[in-house]
Amino acid sequence: MLVNMREMLADARKNGYAVGMFDVSDLEMIRAVVGEAEALNSPVILGALWPDLENGRLPYWAVLARKAAEEARVPVCLHLDHALKIEQVRAAIEAGFTSVMLDASAAPFGENIRLSAEVVQSVRGKNITVEAELGHVGNGWVGSGEGAAGPDALTEPGSVREFLEKTRVDALAVSIGTAHGVYIKAPRLDIPRLREIAAAAGEVPLVLHGGSGTPADQLREAITNGITKVNIYSELLTAWNTALAEELKKQPHMAVWPAVLRKNPDAAMREVIRQKIRFFGSSGRA
Ligand SMILES: [Zn+2]
Repeated sequence: MLVNMREMLADARKNGYAVGMFDVSDLEMIRAVVGEAEALNSPVILGALWPDLENGRLPYWAVLARKAAEEARVPVCLHLDHALKIEQVRAAIEAGFTSVMLDASAAPFGENIRLSAEVVQSVRGKNITVEAELGHVGNGWVGSGEGAAGPDALTEPGSVREFLEKTRVDALAVSIGTAHGVYIKAPRLDIPRLREIAAAAGEVPLVLHGGSGTPADQLREAITNGITKVNIYSELLTAWNTALAEELKKQPHMAVWPAVLRKNPDAAMREVIRQKIRFFGSSGRA
């Protein structure tokens, strides 16, 4: 069933688990995420990043994801991940997304509040949830593009309450030591800071970006201390691309059907999704 992320994250917050958001770029990735969530009876969030939506792809992505969500036996949310412009948010709302994030985290505090509040205003009465980011999660490696707007800045617990009161966002992405992309050195999460942020945020669910590659023990601690949505993309891409490289090596010629070629890569990606959902603790929570 198609939902926004309000109820699923409220339940996760109350019961101490996290829901996975998996960024997906095509039909088979959408089906992999929804299929594995169904198999584990878990709620799930399908995420989309702008590079996967541009050049006219957005409405196609939305139609495919909506169909998969509507037919799913588990709650599925369609979330716009890291929009950098309000026009991108409007386009996603128009296309049928049920949740949006405008990332103004590289802007000054007051500007971040103003832009995030504007997005909340724009979805009023529409049953769409809004995520904002306070502090700035940067990149683990150079050149990924996403989040490249500014240097890392950890979330200041003292600014959380004011931000939430003035914006009324439904979920808050925090910066506690993770990074987007592939880590060049292992991250060290600031769990005491997360505890302070969670205390200040009250009921508002917290989001961890850069979940891919974060060591399991630290991820577990983050979930225990208030993280209720974990974003994953790079680990899916690494699994898929590695398996694809193997498949290509096996081909006697290159006239192979895409559906055949991607069978093993899709299976490798599904394995990662399955492991993540189990680890996050959302199995059986649908
Ligand atoms: Zn992110």
